[in-house]
Amino acid sequence: MKLPATLLAAACALALSACGDDSRDSATTATPPPAATAPTGDTAGADPASGPEAPGTQVPADATTPPAGDTAAAGTAAGETGTTGTGPAATDASSSGAAGQAAVEGCTANVEGNDRMQYNVSSIVVPASCSEFTIKLTHTGQLPEAAMGHNVVITAASDMAAVSADGISAGAGAGYVKSGDNRIVAATDMIGGGESTSVTFDVAKIKSGGPYQFFCSFPGHAALMKGTISVG
Ligand code: ZN
Repeated sequence: MKLPATLLAAACALALSACGDDSRDSATTATPPPAATAPTGDTAGADPASGPEAPGTQVPADATTPPAGDTAAAGTAAGETGTTGTGPAATDASSSGAAGQAAVEGCTANVEGNDRMQYNVSSIVVPASCSEFTIKLTHTGQLPEAAMGHNVVITAASDMAAVSADGISAGAGAGYVKSGDNRIVAATDMIGGGESTSVTFDVAKIKSGGPYQFFCSFPGHAALMKGTISVG
C-alpha cells in the first residue's frame, strides 16, 4: 500500500488547500476525495479521513463522476487560498523551500539565516531612490556562531569565490572576513542563533561593475547561502 499512499500524498502536495478541504468533506460525508487519479480503491482507503468508513465499492462511481458539490468545494478552497488559515500556511511552506526576494522597507532589507544553513531570500533589489542601503540580518536559529555562524557579505559575483577563500584564511576570529579587503562592498558581523546585526553601505558601489552577490562567508555556507543584489 506504500505506492498508492505516496501517490495520494503527491496529489495532496499538488493541491494542498483542495486536499485539506476534501478531507473535511470526507470526514462528514464519507465521500472519497475527487481524486480522479486514484487508480484503485486502496488509494482511497489510505486516506486517513475517509479510510475507515469508505468502502472500495463506492470509489469507482465517485471517481468517475466528480460530484458538483466537491468541485465547488475545491473551487472555494482555491478562492480562499489568499485569505483563510489554510492559504497562508501553504504559502509559508512553499516560500521557506524556495527563497524569493527580500522584503524591503524604505532603504532597509530584512534577511534571515537559519540553523539549516539557509537564507530566507535569494535576491535583494535595492530601490534606485536609495543612496544608502541597510541590510538587517537576523539569525532565526539556535546554534552558536562557532557552529552555524552567518553574515552577509556583498561582492561582485566574480570576486565571491576569492573573497570567500580569503575569509576562511582570515579565520573565525576575523568573522571569516579578510580585514581591509577592498573587493568587499559591505559585510555584517558574523552572528549566531538568536542574534541580529546590520550593515549600511553606499548604493553607488553596486550601481556599476556587477552583477553583485551577497553570501555568508562562514566556511562552506556560501554554497547554499548566496543570492543576487541589484539596484532596481
Ligand atoms: Zn552562515
